[in-house]
Amino acid sequence: MIITRVETFAIPPRWLLCRVETDEGIVGWGEPVVEGRAATVRTAVHELSELLIGKGALRIEDHWQIMTKGSFYRGGPVLSSAVAGLDQALWDIAGKALGVPVHVLLGGPVRDRVRAYSWVGGDEPDRLGEAVAAQVEAGFTAVKMNASGRMTRLATVRDIDAVVGRAAAAREALGPDRDFAVDFHGRFTAANARKVLPHLAPFNPLFAEEPVLPEYTHLLGDLVACSPVPIATGERLYSRTDVLPALRAGVAVLQPDLSHAGGISEVRRIASLAETFDTPIAPHCPLGPVSLAASLQIAFATPNFLIQEQSIGIHYNDGAELLDYVVDREVFRFHDGHLARPTAPGLGIEVDERAVRAADGRAPDWRGPIWRHPDGSFAEW
Ligand SMILES: [Mg+2]
Repeated sequence: MIITRVETFAIPPRWLLCRVETDEGIVGWGEPVVEGRAATVRTAVHELSELLIGKGALRIEDHWQIMTKGSFYRGGPVLSSAVAGLDQALWDIAGKALGVPVHVLLGGPVRDRVRAYSWVGGDEPDRLGEAVAAQVEAGFTAVKMNASGRMTRLATVRDIDAVVGRAAAAREALGPDRDFAVDFHGRFTAANARKVLPHLAPFNPLFAEEPVLPEYTHLLGDLVACSPVPIATGERLYSRTDVLPALRAGVAVLQPDLSHAGGISEVRRIASLAETFDTPIAPHCPLGPVSLAASLQIAFATPNFLIQEQSIGIHYNDGAELLDYVVDREVFRFHDGHLARPTAPGLGIEVDERAVRAADGRAPDWRGPIWRHPDGSFAEW
């Protein structure tokens, strides 16, 4: 079975899909995207596809090696995301060719259902109590929210009160049997995170995410040592070698992204590496249907899995939703905040190709906002 064609589709709200075609008529889908850099990754996908066209579709690992290492300059978000989407599509093809879901190829299911969380509160979180209550009403057992909007370099009493107030509102709406996670979004300095984390402890967050930017992973060990709240990170780390320092620092939860960290092939290995540190994974996924489908295949085959992020209702999904691009929406129907095991071959979803083709080119050029401090200097978003 030979790879004959690779197409890409830029679709609302801010996603990029790739479609890999073979000479036997089997088609695989992937989601290679960096949020805010869809056009850049699209170019990278088409450059990498030169390495695939005319080659055997089932040599997934060999393709991964060549796509990842067959160039002097390698790694980073753009190239790793381009590889990720193509890798997902190759696993989709393999599953469809063999008539089994990808998680069966990875050793078979290790759980019967997968717990997922929803987003609440938006970029500058407010009205959290109501938003959390709505997710509880919808059956979710966990939510995630930003800890803050723009954050000063060292939190004032008012800043800390606001962060704590949101955590308190979330805990009150959730009660003792559900969870909330807090995303610091790299908006905090390390000193600021050390200052704020103890104030969150009484509300028992599931984890605090990206308390510092990924370039400060060497500071994570100190944060882990002083934080009463479990620390998570990983959405901006793209390989085993990228995550190793975070694991050595003792993070409680690792959050690789199936569309950023080299796809199913590499996230499978990242999970295995994390297992040697007794660390569960909670894959990052504020993206579209193919990325979530790939995440679920990993979740069902990975023993050290904690919880899955998913984007339905997220504040970024302006103008389109994940369900707009799948034929069988039942795959993504939540039951008590959990997703059932997909049984269809490959990634387990049928992409609505007509909807994707119709949407191609209608995606706005989404960009992350540029924030500034009151003195006019750059502020992390
Ligand atoms: Mg995050």
